[in-house]
Amino acid sequence: MANAPAAPVRVRFCPSPTGNPHVGLVRTALFNWAFARHHQGTLVFRIEDTDAARDSEESYQQLLDSMRWLGLDWDEGPEIGGPHAPYRQSQRMDLYKDVAEKLLAAGYAYPCYCTTEELDTRRDAARAAGKPSGYDGHCRDLTAEQKAAYEAEGRSSIVRFRMPDEAITFTDLVRGDITVQPENVPDYGIVRANGAPLYTLVNPVDDALMEITHVLRGEDLLSSTPRQIALYRALIELGIAKGTPAFGHLPYVMGEGNKKLSKRDPQASLNLYRERGFLPEGLLNYLSLLGWSIAEDRDIFSMDELIAAFDIEDVNANPARFDLKKCEHINAEHIRKLDVKAFAEACGPWLQAPFAPWAPEAFDAEKWTAIAPYAQTRVTVLSDITDNVDFLFLDEPVEDEASWTKAMKGDPAALLTTARAHLEAADWSDPESLKNAVLTAGEAHGLKLGKAQAPVRVAVTGRTVGLPLFESLQILGREKSLARVDAALAKLTA
Ligand code: GLU
Ligand code: ZN
Repeated sequence: MANAPAAPVRVRFCPSPTGNPHVGLVRTALFNWAFARHHQGTLVFRIEDTDAARDSEESYQQLLDSMRWLGLDWDEGPEIGGPHAPYRQSQRMDLYKDVAEKLLAAGYAYPCYCTTEELDTRRDAARAAGKPSGYDGHCRDLTAEQKAAYEAEGRSSIVRFRMPDEAITFTDLVRGDITVQPENVPDYGIVRANGAPLYTLVNPVDDALMEITHVLRGEDLLSSTPRQIALYRALIELGIAKGTPAFGHLPYVMGEGNKKLSKRDPQASLNLYRERGFLPEGLLNYLSLLGWSIAEDRDIFSMDELIAAFDIEDVNANPARFDLKKCEHINAEHIRKLDVKAFAEACGPWLQAPFAPWAPEAFDAEKWTAIAPYAQTRVTVLSDITDNVDFLFLDEPVEDEASWTKAMKGDPAALLTTARAHLEAADWSDPESLKNAVLTAGEAHGLKLGKAQAPVRVAVTGRTVGLPLFESLQILGREKSLARVDAALAKLTA
């Protein structure tokens, strides 16, 4: 077992409100949440909305709504506040300005007057000479006179952080020891010329001020870690940070064709999973397996089991493959585990407009309650329910040409005529009796049950596949079922 952290755990989930939430983001939130809950720590939810051009209020609301839907509750953050409020970076600008000034005053950062053209020219020259192509330190040691001269020229300046001239070493909780040489981490910008602080500043400053102990985030941010550690050291010297957090970088998630799952990939959109009727715990169960496992032979578990077992040391550094089929399979298992009442309730949205094609008044709660247990053992996602039960609430079964052609083979009219007669005489309080009616009719025409029931199913439900047929007939009722067989017969003999 891993060592328990010495101090109380404080982790953060800090997305930028741009676009729609995606599964990579959810995986990061989940691992932070599970780590916090496992160690009885604190999950801070922070909104990194310093990029006015890309951030939107709509996306912010979606983030909150998604976290609530998933059940990933936070201990400090939007709507609930906390000792480090506010938790939206757009409301913390004075803090960043203050820190930037202190860094400048103490020499940890300096104004850089280079224009984009100058930077480009020098970078191209360095490349051509086979030298490192990052910032060359041009403005590191400008004298007061040189600065004054640049300003007299009307140049504006950005604030650049001065990287120490030494290697940075840290132990990543997932990937082990990492050392980065100074030539690979040039001095970097922390405040734009217009005074706007950059991610490079605000993210570690907030982690420091919010006393974050563990930074768990995607591998794509690994390259920013040496820079942030150097900044942290300066913040400690200035009395702004108490210590440097531990870092753990979660493996990439690969999508189709072994390419990194991109935000724009339709498979990555959280909203899609919601609309298809994934259960939050089914989706989270699957996403937790992207880089982690509970045990070799186990992939279905509850959130409580996840919390009990999760630790960051067990996360695997290898890229994880996103497998939609497995995700669906796990979701289906979680659907089976619900009690039937909870299942019936969870299906609510898919029994109404805009998903349901029947008139609202045609919905019959009693019929739904009767069919729900059969549906629960068959659907993969809750949205599957609509097609499975529409025969109960539509005036007529859907017209599905492919099903009709497939089922109405041989002499379906003869079979249906016989089946109808037996069904009419059957005991409709007992699905067994209905089954025997179709079985007997099939025998009369030399057909096994499977072949004999296909035309009946299509006549009554419109489709070749669906819920158990004889329970379906019983729940729809004798009168309607027989009328539908008659309608099919009329169509066949027309
Ligand atoms: N706002 C950053 C992002 O969404 C957070 C990065 C981090 O976790 O440090 O990429
Ligand atoms: Zn410069």
